[in-house]
Amino acid sequence: MSKLFVKVRDVKIGAGAPISIQSMTNVNPNDEEAILSQIRSLENAGCDIVRMTIPDKEAADVLARVRKKTDMPIVADIHFNYKMALLAIDAGADKIRINPGNIGSQERLERVVKEAGAAGIPIRVGVNSGSLEKTIIDKYGGVTPEGLCESALNNLKKIEDMGFSDLVLSMKASDVRLTYEAHRLISNQTDHPLHIGVTEAGTPKKGKIKSAVGIGSLLLAGIGDTIRVSLTANPVEEVIFAKQLLETIGLRSAKYDIVSCPTCGRTKVDIENLAMKVEAEVESMELKRPVKVAVMGCVVNGPGEAREADYGVAGGAGKGVIFAGSEIIKTVDEEDIVAELMKVIIEREGL
Ligand code: SF4
Repeated sequence: MSKLFVKVRDVKIGAGAPISIQSMTNVNPNDEEAILSQIRSLENAGCDIVRMTIPDKEAADVLARVRKKTDMPIVADIHFNYKMALLAIDAGADKIRINPGNIGSQERLERVVKEAGAAGIPIRVGVNSGSLEKTIIDKYGGVTPEGLCESALNNLKKIEDMGFSDLVLSMKASDVRLTYEAHRLISNQTDHPLHIGVTEAGTPKKGKIKSAVGIGSLLLAGIGDTIRVSLTANPVEEVIFAKQLLETIGLRSAKYDIVSCPTCGRTKVDIENLAMKVEAEVESMELKRPVKVAVMGCVVNGPGEAREADYGVAGGAGKGVIFAGSEIIKTVDEEDIVAELMKVIIEREGL
């Protein structure tokens, strides 16, 4: 985690703050109603910060109006035209994201940095493997972790030299290993918060795996302060998956967890079906605390797993032994397992 932090409206990024989830609107930025509706959907799904592109003045006007209608922190995504950054800041953006490499001259960058400073908002400096400077590509013989780091540090320094330090850094690549190695390198060289993600990860089928490995491995190594799962899909799906990712790593508390065995030749009950039914039932409960439920095929690992879990079942030949922690509650017929297990959970959780 970074030493420094920034605040995007009321969301803190860095210095040990909870890892925030970001996503981006993908509807027409000139359509106020569509933008607002998508921001609300993302908020309901658990998004902490939303980004919208500002390609023209109309989009900046939409941002100004939307800004008044939601409390969601909004980041303006700017490419090529520094004037759009100035308009977005005026419109009330809570942060701007720029790539100093495509914003234009030093003077233009200075204007943007000065206005962000006056508005008291942070800047995310984004470097991307796809737009790495040619001099750096030549120096390292291609797009490398070292090259991405050098470009990122150069860009940060450019802005820091202007007396501005309210910065977040992102280094995006669609290659998981490049993303991982570049962040490992930069984490020892900057104190600024890191926005991490595997960019253009693809469709949900492949993109979720890439994101889980790329983002997950970095977070487990203590690197990264805010995340974006980038999928070719409805952005709500990005947010739902980002939440699952943080829950899996233990960085957000999950409502429930199901531990179930992979089944083997010893299995005498339909564990696959049982585990899915138990999961659906537990998911629909109004739990007051996170609950862990073990669904095991036999008594080999059943009691051990059940002791680790709050509740559990270990299957036998057409039967199931129901546990609550290490306490054996009862043995029931296979067809009664789900109902009996739920009864125990409801009673003991006071539902
Ligand atoms: Fe097989 Fe039992 Fe292990 Fe399940 S818990 S995989 S049934 S040995």
